[in-house]
Amino acid sequence: MIVAIDGPAGAGKSTVTSRLAARLGFIRIDTGALYRVVALLALRLGLPPEAEVELAAAIGSARIVFRGDHVLLDDEDVTLSIREPAISLSASRYAAVPAVRASLLELQRRLGRASDAVLDGRDIGTVVFPNADVKIFLTATADARARRRHAELLGRGADVVFDDVLREIVARDHQDESRPIAPLRRAHDAVLVDATTMTIEEAVDACEAAVQDRSRLS
Ligand code: C5P
Repeated sequence: MIVAIDGPAGAGKSTVTSRLAARLGFIRIDTGALYRVVALLALRLGLPPEAEVELAAAIGSARIVFRGDHVLLDDEDVTLSIREPAISLSASRYAAVPAVRASLLELQRRLGRASDAVLDGRDIGTVVFPNADVKIFLTATADARARRRHAELLGRGADVVFDDVLREIVARDHQDESRPIAPLRRAHDAVLVDATTMTIEEAVDACEAAVQDRSRLS
C-alpha cells in the first residue's frame, strides 16, 4: 500500500509521517530529504540551478541512501547538514529545476514500491504516485507553521527570530506553489487535514483514520 502525504513546509509532515508509518508498520520515505541532499551536493560542487546537465549527472552518480532516520550521501551521514535553514530555500530552488525532478522521480518510485510505504513531500499524490492508495494533504496556516518551526529551531539551540522564520515559510510556499513543474497543490482526491489547531497526535489520528477509511472501502 502507498500512502502519499503532501503539504507545505512546517505543517508537521515529518513527525506525522514518521509516527503514522510506525503505527501502520510501513516504511517512511522523506522525499524532501532527497531534494535537500541535491541542494547540498549542488552547493558543494558550485552548480547553479541553471546547470541542468551537470546537475543531472551529479545526481546520477551520487549514492543517496536512507538508513533508518539517517540520510547518507556517498557514505557520508548528511542528516544534520541538510536541515540547516540555508538548505531549505536552496532545496526549493533546485526542486524547481526540471532535470532535478526527473532525476529524483524514478528513485522515489523505486523506494516507494519496495514495501508498504508512507511518502511525504509536495507532489507525491499528484505526480510521483498519482494512483496512491491513500492521499492526504496536511496543512496549517503560515502563522501556525512558522510558530511550530520557530519552536523547533529554538529547541535545537538555533538563534532565530520568529519573523525570519515566517518570511522563509512564506517564500518557500510561494516558490513551491508557483513553479511550473509539479507545483505544490492538493490532489483532487486527497483528504484534507488542517492541523492548525491540532496536536501532532491528533494529526496522526486524522491521517490514520483516512487510511482506515480507505482500507474499509477496498
Ligand atoms: O519537505 P522539506 O521541507 O524537507 O522539502 C524541502 C524542499 O524540497 C521543499 O521546499 C520543496 O521545494 C522540495 N520538495 C519537492 N517535492 C517533494 C519534496 C520536497 O519539491 N516531493
